[in-house]
Amino acid sequence: MSNWRKMRLYYEPLITSAAFSRPVTREDEGREAYLRWCVHCQCPSDTAEHTLFHCENWNGLRTDLRERLGYPPTSADVTDILCGPLFEDLPTDGYQRTIALCDAEETLRLFYKMVENILTVKEEEERARQVAEADR
Ligand SMILES: [Zn+2]
Repeated sequence: MSNWRKMRLYYEPLITSAAFSRPVTREDEGREAYLRWCVHCQCPSDTAEHTLFHCENWNGLRTDLRERLGYPPTSADVTDILCGPLFEDLPTDGYQRTIALCDAEETLRLFYKMVENILTVKEEEERARQVAEADR
């Protein structure tokens, strides 16, 4: 087993479960009772996984990645997207390998774009809610 595969096997559970099962930001942890409910769909678990992959409110911001993958992205895709293809899975032909790596890089770019767009809008909405609450 290659070191790269061992590293993926070690980090995959950390990436897919630990990162996505907590409230979205550290500062939110003190307000878990409030944050557990998604303000968009009333899902009782407003985790990063819910926000990034399940909440229908953000479907429009997942379009590019969904079209790239050919299916709606899930947390199970994150390791492959972040790590890219395994070295031993890459084509041996140099040109084909370059294409595979460029494809993986584009998928990673679309994933980052999706995460950044969703979290940016979500943070803006949260700030607007805080201002509205402070004005009451
Ligand atoms: Zn939701």
